[in-house]
Amino acid sequence: MGFNSFKLDRKIMNGVRALGYATPTPIQLQAIPPVLDGRDVMGLAQTGTGKTAAFVLPILQRLIEGPRGRVRTLIVAPTRELAEQIHVQIVALGRDTKLRSCTIYGGVSVNPQIQKLRDGAEIVVACPGRLLDHIGQKTIDLSNLEVLVLDEADRMFDMGFLPDIRKIIKVLPAKRQNLMFSATMADDIRKLAHEVLRDPITVQVGHTAPVNTVAHALYPVEPHLKTALLMELLKHTDTESILIFAREKYRAKRIGQQLEEAGYKAASLQGNLSQNRRQEALDGFRSGKYQILVATDIAARGIDVSSISHVVNYDMPDTTDAYTHRIGRTGRAAKTGDAFTFVSREDEFQVKSIERVLGSKIERRLLKGFDYKKPAPARDTEFARPPREPQRRKPQARPTATPAKTSAAPRSAAPERPEQGGPRRSGPRR
Ligand code: AMP
Repeated sequence: MGFNSFKLDRKIMNGVRALGYATPTPIQLQAIPPVLDGRDVMGLAQTGTGKTAAFVLPILQRLIEGPRGRVRTLIVAPTRELAEQIHVQIVALGRDTKLRSCTIYGGVSVNPQIQKLRDGAEIVVACPGRLLDHIGQKTIDLSNLEVLVLDEADRMFDMGFLPDIRKIIKVLPAKRQNLMFSATMADDIRKLAHEVLRDPITVQVGHTAPVNTVAHALYPVEPHLKTALLMELLKHTDTESILIFAREKYRAKRIGQQLEEAGYKAASLQGNLSQNRRQEALDGFRSGKYQILVATDIAARGIDVSSISHVVNYDMPDTTDAYTHRIGRTGRAAKTGDAFTFVSREDEFQVKSIERVLGSKIERRLLKGFDYKKPAPARDTEFARPPREPQRRKPQARPTATPAKTSAAPRSAAPERPEQGGPRRSGPRR
């Protein structure tokens, strides 16, 4: 069945053709008809399944009719990157519709966002924190809202956004269409779905099992040999672009640096970067300027680079869901990809859970010629953190003649926190 069966407006079909979508993906086949009918939908689908277009296309169809210049659709997403990617797909698919979409998230100036809202965006793609700021400041009018989308609801949950979501929902008109997407249907998500959705249709693709176009392999290795193994593996593998996952921001940054020092075109993406530098790393990865991107889970959420050939789990993910999300970045939309996971002895339990979800054992591989016996150094110099910089409380009279120079590695002395856990209530999120 092709896209024609949905009877989408010609202008929207122009966008579908321009993006080169020939046939709808399974989630699109299941979700588009009920969304077009105005039904509430719970979509169980992970990144890489085409879920974004599954809600964007019928929303464009709805908005093409009716009033312009007011916010009629709100899409809430957990991270800035995901918000940007959704926005980019809306712009691409809606290129001939003259519908306007804008993004709202923290870490960037608020004024351009206010201007875009004033200019009359019909679709707003937002992260919860900054959206609440706009609601509080009355710089967004949601009284004409017709459709609410909660994307990657499971991740919003993990990041502690549930109270924010509840506050947002309170200010929306009661009569609206609700769409919720999640990779999993954990109890929390079921509860939220029950609160938000009315008489929903549930559509599902592939449970939580990772996309089957991905080949998985485990590389058992002692923790101190991971970087050496990574370098060896890169030498022996034919790769297009590689996304490497590390457990903590500091580790992501350090691995990125080591790869750069080894001559690779590599960048790291982690929560400590300014919005500009994050965007630069993402754009560079997308355009091929960087062949390798090293990221933490949260920073990499929803990264949509269709040509990722390899995902390397330098550190084992904490949960099977995180594994699914990570490797969902490769093997997207019927391309094939490889997922390599470094495992140490303490990861074995986690490996068993992942194998249960996959329904099969993952192949263990040893790299020929690699010295697995090399002893660990007496002290971890690789990920040892530099000493904390003394923090100044208040700007005290400082010598004006010698302004503190920032080196080429700004903030490198700042202690890094793992990104797991709740969102920071202060700081650059908003
Ligand atoms: P998503 O799951 O929404 O992140 O989409 C994953 C990737 O698949 C994106 O790069 C989309 O542009 C692409 N995509 C979505 N729908 C289709 C389709 N019907 N045919 C081919 N590619 C698609």
